[in-house]
Amino acid sequence: MSWDFETDPEFQARLDWIDEFVRTEVEPLDVVWPGDVYRRPMDDDVAVLVRSLQQQVRDQDLWACHLGPELGGKGYGQLKLALMNEIFGRSHWAAMVFGTQAPDTGNAEILAAFGTAEQKARFLQPLLDGEIVSSYSMTEPQGGSDPAGFTCSARRDGEDWVIDGWKFFSSHARWASFLVLLARTDPEASVHDAFSMFLVPADTPGVEIVRNIGVYGEAEDEGAHALVHYDHVRIPGDCLLGDAGDGFGVAQVRLGGGRVHHAMRAVGICQRALDMMCERALSRTTRGSLLADKQTVQGYIGDSWAELQQYRLLVLQTAWKIDRYQDYAKVREDIAAIKILAPKLIRDIVGRSIQVHGALGISNELDLARLFLVQFITGFSDGPSEIHQATLVRRVLKRYEPAPGLWPTQHLPSLRDESEAHIASRLAALGVPSA
Ligand SMILES: Cc1cc2nc3c(=O)[nH]c(=O)nc-3n(C[C@H](O)[C@H](O)[C@H](O)COP(=O)(O)OP(=O)(O)OC[C@H]3O[C@@H](n4cnc5c(N)ncnc54)[C@H](O)[C@@H]3O)c2cc1C
Repeated sequence: MSWDFETDPEFQARLDWIDEFVRTEVEPLDVVWPGDVYRRPMDDDVAVLVRSLQQQVRDQDLWACHLGPELGGKGYGQLKLALMNEIFGRSHWAAMVFGTQAPDTGNAEILAAFGTAEQKARFLQPLLDGEIVSSYSMTEPQGGSDPAGFTCSARRDGEDWVIDGWKFFSSHARWASFLVLLARTDPEASVHDAFSMFLVPADTPGVEIVRNIGVYGEAEDEGAHALVHYDHVRIPGDCLLGDAGDGFGVAQVRLGGGRVHHAMRAVGICQRALDMMCERALSRTTRGSLLADKQTVQGYIGDSWAELQQYRLLVLQTAWKIDRYQDYAKVREDIAAIKILAPKLIRDIVGRSIQVHGALGISNELDLARLFLVQFITGFSDGPSEIHQATLVRRVLKRYEPAPGLWPTQHLPSLRDESEAHIASRLAALGVPSA
């Protein structure tokens, strides 16, 4: 029997180091350079400071911990990563400083799994070294969660591929050195065989960033999510990642881990919002008493604390199962559940924190309004929650059968005769005469 909720002291010491380092060295970057995390090239002062922080992380053996030792990470596994990501979730910059930022993490994972030696040397190594950033180009303006709607195509032309089409919300494309692109290579095939994955250097002629779409509150064309037109983009055959026709399977590999990492960071976001709510409740007086003394505010804090503990345990258990089974397919229900719950958790806890802060809560002098928006980002990215709900329900229902007759199998009047006969036989066996 092993059922343990303790972190081993050696790793706890590392978490304590991370917590202190993020608080004192990384969070100041969030305040002074909030929009510069992915910007390339970095300004000189930003580059010097960030490189120095990344080196301190390497010196602690904490760089790119989502990757195995063969790729320069520690391969700590998902449970330890979950505990680390809770801390990173508090900060814009932490993932970049620790080498675990999306979408580079997912792109590195598929390059490691499917890349040739040349592709790894050219694209993966500088990514792992933190020298460049990358983009993932899958969603299209007319089709997001349903790949059947994707039309961006790649066709063979001699040894080359020629790509034509549009991609939407390709995050960080404006700063990326290369884009990982999902394109249709077989117009006739079913979704599972129709696509291939490509590595497209960002400076290839025909790769045109039409607009840099922002999320709410960001200035027009100053956002991080590009509308990209691939206009007769010619790339050599060795830019195919994996085999032709295997793109859908390659894409699935990068999405599994991503969903879990979002959930882990959601814990960090909500803990931060709860911390802020509690501090405010203890600081603000209205109508003669602290907010902390008002019953409704106590309800906000109590519900938030309990919901966060529930969610955190489910995330940690999911991470533990991934480590234990080493098979994402066996943990799909759990991953779907934490993906579905994350937006609601953020909406409820960050929303309550905003409420307790009043006008200041929704202002641009606190980070809460931006965090509130993250509920939608976790809701859409890596597939909308509704699709995960359908997956979860389909798998849960597989374990059940319809009732054999008119009444449910637990219908009490229908159970009575059988139960009475059972009890009579047990009493008879115990020598008790029947009544
Ligand atoms: C901040 C951010 C960053 C992103 N970065 C990237 C990136 O780097 N690369 C990339 O390729 N994409 C990226 N995306 C896009 C993301 O992958 C898509 O938003 C997502 O796949 C959903 O597609 P969609 O937005 O077109 O929504 P749609 O597919 O149009 O769905 C809209 C809504 O319809 C409902 N819905 C859809 N399907 C179903 C269904 N089967 N059953 C019930 N309801 C359904 C859901 O409520 C859903 O939210 C990013 C998105 C965001 C918000």
